Amino acid sequence: MSVVVLPAVMDPAFKHKFGVAAFNAIDDVTLDGLIRGAEESSSPMIIQISVKTYKFWGGKVIKDTFTTMAERVPVPITLHLDHCPEPDIAQESLELGWNSVLFDGSALSFDENFRITKEITALAARFGAHVEGELVAVAGVEDGVGGENEGRLIPIEQEVEFIKGTGIYCYAPPIGTAHGFYKSAPDIRYDRMQKTVEATSMPMVLHGGSGLTDEVYRRLIALGAAKVNISTDLKKTYAEGFRTYLEAKPAEYDPLKLIGSVRDDVKRMAQHYFRLFGSEGQA
Ligand SMILES: [Zn+2]
Repeated sequence: MSVVVLPAVMDPAFKHKFGVAAFNAIDDVTLDGLIRGAEESSSPMIIQISVKTYKFWGGKVIKDTFTTMAERVPVPITLHLDHCPEPDIAQESLELGWNSVLFDGSALSFDENFRITKEITALAARFGAHVEGELVAVAGVEDGVGGENEGRLIPIEQEVEFIKGTGIYCYAPPIGTAHGFYKSAPDIRYDRMQKTVEATSMPMVLHGGSGLTDEVYRRLIALGAAKVNISTDLKKTYAEGFRTYLEAKPAEYDPLKLIGSVRDDVKRMAQHYFRLFGSEGQA
């Protein structure tokens, strides 16, 4: 068990209609907190890494740290590269043994995105890895990738052509969610999620997951969102964990107590989502 491929966690979730949380880990403290949370909740989990974080630490350091930590626990966990618009980085991560990658060609023309996504899918298959695809940009900026506005909506038929023709394993449909903090309640397009699943029978990915209501999560997961991305809430938990601890204990200088406290905060946050998404006890 421990380190598995993306379908090993998403196929059961899609079939039994629960969601697997995909957290954007930042460092070893967040990785360890998330993995401990998954173990205690007996939950499958996806660890994903932004390209910005990938470049900060290096793909091998992250892969090795992830593998060492994930192999200590019995629950299935997979390592995914989030929103990667750079084919070279996607290729490098696959060569290093990462389990999957989201090739984000949403800024490209349909034809260019189709062509490169298909190439990366073929490359991934050689490594036993998998690809998430994206056609319409999710609104909001996430770790330097993306813009303020959602990309132009396209006919569902074109999305289906992309999904089936490129050979991707899962897809991020444009359903009105956004990266970052929501300034007002989003207008969720449940119909698009439903129609895309009906036309493809493929597991879907929910981006902009932080800050939605419990009811929105439940409805989208029931429609086929088998991977639910949580990035902003993790960043907030992490930063507030340091701030709260240091403000409460201004004379404390033991680094392990400090990061141990933050690690526990991250673990509790992860366990909240496992319960909410129905993945608790599914490992
Ligand atoms: Zn995203």
